[in-house]
Amino acid sequence: MSIIWCISVFCIFLSATDVIYGADARKDPYLCLRRLRPKNKFLSMNNPFENALKQLHRAAAVYEFPNDLLERISHPDRELRISIPVKMDDGVLRIFEGYRVEHNNARGPYKGGIRYHKDTDINEVKALAFWMTLKCAVADIPMGGGKGGITIDPKTLSKRELEDLSRGWVRGMADVLGPKKDVPAPDVNTTPEIMGWMADEFEKISGDKTKATFTGKPIALGGSEGRGPATGLGGFYVLDHLRKEYSLPESCSVVIQGFGNVGSNAAEVFSMHGHKIIATSDSKSAIFKEDGIDVDGLTVYKTKNGRLEGFPGSKTITNEELLLLPCDILIPAALENQITEKNAGNIRAKFILELANGPITPEADEILLANGIPVVPDILANSGGVIVSTFEWEQNLKNEHWSETEVLDKLKAVLYKQSETVYLKSVELKTDMRRAAFIVALSRIAQSMGY
Ligand code: NAD
Repeated sequence: MSIIWCISVFCIFLSATDVIYGADARKDPYLCLRRLRPKNKFLSMNNPFENALKQLHRAAAVYEFPNDLLERISHPDRELRISIPVKMDDGVLRIFEGYRVEHNNARGPYKGGIRYHKDTDINEVKALAFWMTLKCAVADIPMGGGKGGITIDPKTLSKRELEDLSRGWVRGMADVLGPKKDVPAPDVNTTPEIMGWMADEFEKISGDKTKATFTGKPIALGGSEGRGPATGLGGFYVLDHLRKEYSLPESCSVVIQGFGNVGSNAAEVFSMHGHKIIATSDSKSAIFKEDGIDVDGLTVYKTKNGRLEGFPGSKTITNEELLLLPCDILIPAALENQITEKNAGNIRAKFILELANGPITPEADEILLANGIPVVPDILANSGGVIVSTFEWEQNLKNEHWSETEVLDKLKAVLYKQSETVYLKSVELKTDMRRAAFIVALSRIAQSMGY
């Protein structure tokens, strides 16, 4: 009797999940439970857009800006949410949620990457778009700020499904995109191949042959030399320029959270210039090797095994332990909200270079400042990616192809100059580098907006 009762309850549960959550819930009975839970413990506690606004107000407290400017910049120009239908390989239709936030275009077309992540939501995309407006202004490039995303773990899709989803995002957003309107780029989990599919889809829809609407494309499809390593390399140029000001040694011990595009390229360029990478991580695990990791060897190992754990000679640690290791330079290069008020007081790095966007919460910033740990903020430290993306856009519009040397020389010149500008502003106002970078950016945006 009780067995029959249990079977009936289970059947009612399955049909209810079908009605409420669609047929995919049948294949994954926990889906409805997961959708009812906050998606990410840290993101639900730390709304990245609220953090971005707190940063804005902290900067505005040490420098007088017109209230109208602060009000305008606190609201994105436009938020788009679309449903993207994809016929899955098993014949089931699934609908994915896609976003584009166009934050501000006072200085040029909206510019910013597209993120594919299971925790991506509108608040994350709004924050990232806001930071792009400031980042492009700090770099003094003729671009505004935007960002896009899709809530998806791309590792759960086949290649065909991923391509359909990416092309679907472009179909849904095509009206607002264009070389003079809005120019997307790669971000977390979006590769040059994906940018190539998107550029192709946009060309089919719009007939625009300039290829200047998407950056981060493969070189054969109009991409720029140097775009792949640009963010990691740019971070190195920034650090290299500031190293003496902060009395950092010529050969530093470096910890890098995240061994993706940005983190692995940073690891390579830092180790090439005589620094020692003692720990790094991905979303699954972290490794530590006190006498230094062979970065090329680790790249080969990760490609072959799909993980970092087990790399010969290294010790496995947790991501939490990695952030607290004593070192000269800590480089967060993964996601937002990694250093919060909970762990900031235990950070033992001498210096932090933010290559991820928003890895430190405003509360953590205050703790680090009180503990004398300087932070080079994301909007300066990781601007190498958008700078080379802008070079790619310029090459496409002029139908040119610049050599790698030309691209990297230009990147270095921009970053040395803007690092100096931000550093001098921080000295002049006796404030930290984040507030100084915000002030440099906001002053330039204010000028373009006529304030
Ligand atoms: P990616 O997808 O190539 O790499 C992200 C890496 O972080 C992966 O190794 C992943 O496993 C790891 N990761 C994810 N969650 C983690 C966690 N909780 N702990 C440790 N590691 C974790 O993405 P990316 O392009 O390298 O971007 C990384 C960061 O840099 C993001 O914040 C992104 O917005 C920022 N950024 C990227 C670019 C760019 O050009 N790609 C430019 C500027 C800023």
